[in-house]
Order: sequence, then C-alpha cells, then structure tokens
Amino acid sequence: MADFVEVVEASSILRRVEDLAARISDDYEGKEPVLVGVLFGALPFLADLAKHLTMSCEFDFLALNRFGEGGRARIAMDTETPLEGRHVILVEDIVDTGLTLSFLHRLLEARDVASIATATLLDKAARRIVEVPLEYRGFEVGDEFLLGYGLDWQGRYRNLSSLWAVLNLQSLTDDPDRLARLTYGR
Ligand code: 5GP
Repeated sequence: MADFVEVVEASSILRRVEDLAARISDDYEGKEPVLVGVLFGALPFLADLAKHLTMSCEFDFLALNRFGEGGRARIAMDTETPLEGRHVILVEDIVDTGLTLSFLHRLLEARDVASIATATLLDKAARRIVEVPLEYRGFEVGDEFLLGYGLDWQGRYRNLSSLWAVLNLQSLTDDPDRLARLTYGR
C-alpha cells in the first residue's frame, strides 16, 4: 500500500474555495467583515478565499499555543484590528475535535463582536468532541493525517497546493523528504 495518497487535488480545492467565497459574498452583502485566520495553517485558504470575495473585507491573524490535553490553549499572537462591533469570520484549515474552535468562539464573544461565523476548509466531523457551528465548510474528510494547503508535518509541507493523506507516518519520520520528492517533482 502507498504511504501517501493525494486526497483533494489543487483544482478541486480552488473550485470549492470559489463556491464558499461566492456564498460569503452574498451573505455579507453591505457589511465589511474581518477574516481572522488562525496561523499558520489557515494562510493559503484565507488568501484564496479573500481573493474571490466580491466585497470589501479586512483580514487579521492570531496564533495559539496548544498545551496539555483537552484542547487547552493560550494566545501566542493576538489580532491587531479592534473587533468590537465587527462581523468576524474565523478562518481555519481544519476542525477536528472542535476544541480549538470553541476556545476561539469564547475568546471572540468576550470582545463583543457583532457576529461570528467560521469558514473551515476541512471538517473531520466524525472526531468532534465539542459541537461548534461551521457556517462555511469546504470538505468533510476522514480521520487520516492530512498534509498540504496549509497543513503541516513538523512545519513542513504547508506549501503543497493539493491535500495529501499520510497513511504511514513512520515513513515520514524515517525520511522527512519522501513526500517532497514525490510532490515537488525535482
Ligand atoms: P481541534 O482543536 O479541532 O481538535 O484541532 C484543530 C487543529 O488540529 C488544526 O488547526 C490542526 O492544527 C490540527 N489537525 C487536526 N487534524 C490534522 C491533520 O490531519 N493534519 C494536520 N497537519 N493537522 C491537523
């Protein structure tokens, strides 16, 4: 069996991101939302999404330090934009247990935002521990470990334009460049 499988190719990702951007543009007509990307994984998704919105928006970013069990987290880098009274769209690469997103919801609600919605490229729905509303969702995926389009393994592979499932993580540990040789084609 192969150690890596391409699960969503780049053109399919882009088509889906365009659909989501069209829906968001309709839903937020007349408003100027702030897209808040959760670093680092949300970066490619946020960039593609924002480019296809047909309205004004701002974007900002935050980063989290996760520690311990149960999704405990603290803010490692906060947004600069004052969010009070703003329509916030949280942009995530993937929602897995939902613990990160529920932490972020609580954080933003405490800032008296006008509204919060979430756009996530990927949803590991079967692994959810905490139910969180996902207004804009690209693809539902299984519980394989995924890489590419923002998702990393030890900081690498975020720049792949498609999504890959790693079926054998040991093969990356043994040879961190294996997927690079397969995907970058050089
Ligand atoms: P949650 O709090 O929903 O369990 O976790 C969300 C975070 O887990 C994501 O932002 C991401 O950092 C990480 N994560 C979950 N599944 C995957 C995966 O398949 N691949 C990678 N690279 N990260 C994942």
